[in-house]
Amino acid sequence: MRIIHYEDIVEKVSKACQDVNFDIGSDVFDSFKKSLETETSENGKYILEQLIENAVIAKEERVPMCQDTGVAVLIVELGQDCHIVGGSLYSAINEGVVKGYSDGFLRHSIVGNPISRTTSTTYNTPAVIHIELLPGDQLILNLSAKGAGSENMSSMKMLKPSDGLQGVKDFIIETVRIAGPNACPPLIVGVGIGGNFERCAYLAKKSLFRPIGFRNISKEISTLEKDLIEEINKLGIGPQGMGGNTTALDVKIEMEACHIASLPVAINLNCHASRHKKIIM
Ligand code: SF4
Repeated sequence: MRIIHYEDIVEKVSKACQDVNFDIGSDVFDSFKKSLETETSENGKYILEQLIENAVIAKEERVPMCQDTGVAVLIVELGQDCHIVGGSLYSAINEGVVKGYSDGFLRHSIVGNPISRTTSTTYNTPAVIHIELLPGDQLILNLSAKGAGSENMSSMKMLKPSDGLQGVKDFIIETVRIAGPNACPPLIVGVGIGGNFERCAYLAKKSLFRPIGFRNISKEISTLEKDLIEEINKLGIGPQGMGGNTTALDVKIEMEACHIASLPVAINLNCHASRHKKIIM
């Protein structure tokens, strides 16, 4: 049994909340640069240059790359031979988010009451926490700061099994088309197929934690990912909706078994501020 201390989790989450907002990460940054070489529109190129400059300034000056510093979303891989002492894992993560958003002067974006919008909460909490219990004694915290613009343009639908592959593709492309500039493209398009109503939404979110350019290990799904990148980039939306052939930096798909009567599909859009960090403890 491996022991992990509450305070260590708080410190690591706090640092990651700041780092993730200041440093875009090499996979996203490199994909901006790569897209600059292939982008055909002058406006699109200009926006990509701005995104690159913005990312460099944010990293060098330790300032947020976007005013929307996001909801802290964590997918936790918890080894069943790992024992957390000093407090609950949920409390440790939330305390880390409070410390990180407070120490880093990051915007607190959570309202306690979604209807009245009047109650503010403590320093951007609660975080959205998903825990997967796995074999082993490691604790891995996959943290993201998820912006609302792209989250708002995400979509979920229970398709009919007879809609088939074409129905799935049409729904994904239509979701990106409707999102247009509102999701702050270029996008990372996360897709969950299968499971049930809530599971496919989780799969879509989980897919966004895979670094850009890493394809699904299934040949069938990786081919679908590549086809969709091509189709989406023909929409002409371009960087920040200014036109061009860089609408999506990547498409990631996770697929699972589902009921014979269902074909659940969820699309979780991520803006270009795709902020992820992996904490391994
Ligand atoms: S959607 Fe992303 S880029 Fe747009 S405002 Fe929100 S965090 Fe910033």
